[in-house]
Amino acid sequence: MNARIFEIFTSIEGEGILYGTKTLFVRFAGCPYSCFYCDTLDALPLDSGKEYSITEACNLIDSNLQDNTFKVNFTGGEPLIQHEAVSELAKHVKARGLPTYLESACFDSKKFLYVLPSIDFVKIEFKTIESEFIDEKHYPELLRNTLECLQAAVEAKKTTYIKIVVSSKTEPESFKEILEQIFKIISKENISGFIIQPTTSLSEPTLEQLLEFYDLVYPYYDEVRVVPQLHKVISAP
Ligand code: SF4
Repeated sequence: MNARIFEIFTSIEGEGILYGTKTLFVRFAGCPYSCFYCDTLDALPLDSGKEYSITEACNLIDSNLQDNTFKVNFTGGEPLIQHEAVSELAKHVKARGLPTYLESACFDSKKFLYVLPSIDFVKIEFKTIESEFIDEKHYPELLRNTLECLQAAVEAKKTTYIKIVVSSKTEPESFKEILEQIFKIISKENISGFIIQPTTSLSEPTLEQLLEFYDLVYPYYDEVRVVPQLHKVISAP
């Protein structure tokens, strides 16, 4: 088994509930999807990056790990398309005593379940249909898988939070539909955060739109936060 990695680097976590922490990012190469706001376009080709054996990839992690690193993020691209490699590298990181974090579009709950035992922090990202992640025909299947991933992370008692990216194109109705499905299967005590992340530079939502999304989440989860990506502000990767 090999790991196709696009890049590995230390930066400041720019998203979610661990915003601001020093993090080693392991960006896996390849993603077959097409979100219009994707900010890692160079990492989307399945043959981008470089292939490493698991031993080489573990050595790469070790040599890039800086002092005072809070966690290691497995990101992409879409890391779950290389779920076996993610699992091996996550085990290596945990054996070194560092927490692991998975950033995935949660498109496949079986692959998610495979990596889950080696992951400490889980971001469950729900995509609205307007994200253009996937076509309308396949969207219900994506939503079902993402919900299954959420349920599995909660049942495994992982530190789990939800993120939804919103843009000026996001329809309140599709956002609301996702919310209803989420809070049918979990309760507010099960999650450690709910982040509404506005797009930056591309189809940015207005303040009125952000407040509308916030107001939709608040009755279910009053710790909801609107958080833009910090790394776009400080020009970090
Ligand atoms: S799933 Fe992530 S990596 Fe893939 S296109 Fe969407 S934003 Fe980009």
